[in-house]
Amino acid sequence: MAPVAGSVFAAVPQAVPVAVFQLTADFRADVDPRKVNLGVGAYRTDEGQPWVLPVVRKVERMIAEDTSLNHEYLPILGLPEFRANSSRIALGEDSPAIQENRVGGVQSLGGTGALRIGAEFLRRWYNGTTVTPVYISSPSWENHNSVFTDAGFKDIRTYRYWNGATRGLDIQGFLEDLEKAPEFSIFILHACAHNPTGTDPTQEQWKQIAAVMKRRFLFPFFDSAYQGFASGCLDRDAWAVRFFVSEGFELFCAQSFSKNFGLYNERVGNLTIVAKDADNVQRTLSQMEKIVRTTWSNPPSQGARIVATTLTSPELFAEWKGNVKTMADRVLLMRAELRSRLEALGTPGTWNHITEQIGMFSFTGLNSKQVLFLIKEKHIYLMASGRINMCGLTTKNLDYVASSIHEAVTKIQTPA
Ligand code: PMP
Repeated sequence: MAPVAGSVFAAVPQAVPVAVFQLTADFRADVDPRKVNLGVGAYRTDEGQPWVLPVVRKVERMIAEDTSLNHEYLPILGLPEFRANSSRIALGEDSPAIQENRVGGVQSLGGTGALRIGAEFLRRWYNGTTVTPVYISSPSWENHNSVFTDAGFKDIRTYRYWNGATRGLDIQGFLEDLEKAPEFSIFILHACAHNPTGTDPTQEQWKQIAAVMKRRFLFPFFDSAYQGFASGCLDRDAWAVRFFVSEGFELFCAQSFSKNFGLYNERVGNLTIVAKDADNVQRTLSQMEKIVRTTWSNPPSQGARIVATTLTSPELFAEWKGNVKTMADRVLLMRAELRSRLEALGTPGTWNHITEQIGMFSFTGLNSKQVLFLIKEKHIYLMASGRINMCGLTTKNLDYVASSIHEAVTKIQTPA
């Protein structure tokens, strides 16, 4: 066919911008001095600045001065000590699965890369078919749907998760949807600090979820993008994944080090694979090599070196845990401060969910009209869903944000 209007690209439709990046662009363009960005999911200090973790600075210097290092290609599956230690922090120091040699890792470009190659593997090899349903929580991080769609899955469904009325987990709906799902369906589970709701199942609820999934042969694909951010403790935040492994599940766990190492632009992730035995892991990794070879061929080294160096030194590891706790504690403080201000103002509604939710985000319950009011009238940028990044709050802007939310809620009470 001849090119239309003189260009081979003339028929390319304009794609819709990615909402969260558009929001950041709008924020940058805003010249109002009061402006606040509660959109993007990245940590900010109380001065509203990005934070290079002190342990990361230190390790970067060590790497720069280490003349034994070079810029040769890494193996296709990545830096071995990075892969092994990433799986170790997901599954635990004393994980029997690791001791039994039935765990493998694939270094990836961020958590997104881990999800993508995991999805690609499942489409090619899982249960012999691409018609296997993939279930994503409602709501979820919007990229889950896109990643699995782009990997070729045709049947993507949602499972009930959020109960807007109680502003909590719809455990009954969740369990019913697990019961109804065809056997062998794939379930994307947020390991901790669910994005965007900040609401995780309790340990008792995870046990119920695991029991149904086991009985119905459902495949758990954990997304672990916020380990350490939920409770400030790496082990506590990995409880669900470790419980599933202890229950004998085979599973995938996509790990991101973007948030807990603050290495957003280095693209550091790992896909941890747990299988029944060593032989299954080895064949799976051999196919993962094929997928990576045609995707990014081999991964970048800088971020993986930073993480691996930190995780293999007891001193640096301890320092990193302290840095993670600093971030998690600041989030907790901002939650308490925002809630107490809204309650003191007598803002209509209940605000206990702000401190009950965990992780980087809070699902405020603000409707889309209230969100629009905050953006247009108050220069406070947040997602249309009402999700706010707690790290966007600082001791300096808390009063302004709280009084603006108060005004939005009192002025605009009709549901959107
Ligand atoms: N999963 C979830 C739930 C996330 O929120 C994010 C980051 N926003 C990711 C995965 C991807 O992280 P990364 O930037 O490492 O690709």
